Amino acid sequence: MRHRNLVILTGAGISAESGVPTFRADDGLWLGHRIEDVATPGAFARDPSLVQDFYNRRRRQLAEVRPNAAHHALADLAARWEGDFLLVTQNVDDLHDRAHALTPPAPGFELIHMHGELLKAHCTRTGRVCDWPDDLEPQQPSPHHPLGLLRPHIVWFGEMPFMLERIDAAIAACDLFISIGTSGAVYPAAGFVQQARFAGARTVEINLEPTPGSRLFDQGVYGPATQMVPAFVNNLLAG
Ligand code: NAD
Repeated sequence: MRHRNLVILTGAGISAESGVPTFRADDGLWLGHRIEDVATPGAFARDPSLVQDFYNRRRRQLAEVRPNAAHHALADLAARWEGDFLLVTQNVDDLHDRAHALTPPAPGFELIHMHGELLKAHCTRTGRVCDWPDDLEPQQPSPHHPLGLLRPHIVWFGEMPFMLERIDAAIAACDLFISIGTSGAVYPAAGFVQQARFAGARTVEINLEPTPGSRLFDQGVYGPATQMVPAFVNNLLAG
């Protein structure tokens, strides 16, 4: 294989063909809501019922969707990649996790959910994270602190994404960076391609269509993720 250290960033587009709606639909709404009303700390403080209900519905929806050919292709790649491979997803669904559970990765692989996970909750007082596959009540008591509540383990707008130092270090050491199904509209993930270029990596965008940042990529592969990602992975593994 020509490349050794791989970083792949995925966004809502990789899960779209599984039936998980993307975020920036033409109406600018996310499942009928403005993001300010459901995906900010202020929204949770103002209307915890609305916010918990929004994420409860999305959490329940996970039972109705399955990983698609693009998730499975990345799991195959993770099983066969001989160097380091960091898969960073902005998605809060568990579709990558399920694909990798079926096809266990090689030792150099790591998956980071930089914007959190729908199937986890955390305590508002201690920050402690726990698995949470069920609905959360508007005032769900935290098992970790008598005054704490449980909230979705989701990075809301205005909050710091998870594990940025680890991601920065992997990008600084990568020689191939691939961005799949992300509009490049949400920072800091939108800046990863520039960091990768600075590190001297080859950069590839896979998306339905060129994004506003497409000129930052050495190569663009345009079409549905379920077709483009498996084909790209096959070529990559063939060297
Ligand atoms: P986005 O909705 O802003 O952009 C989606 C991108 O995917 C677009 O560029 C679109 O052209 C592309 N796309 C759509 N269908 C595709 C397909 N079939 N194949 C290939 N590409 C396709 O999503 P984003 O860039 O991930 O940023 C939105 C934010 O919203 C993120 O922070 C994320 O956490 C959150 N979000 C997550 C999910 C999820 O967990 N599945 C869903 C919606 C939003």
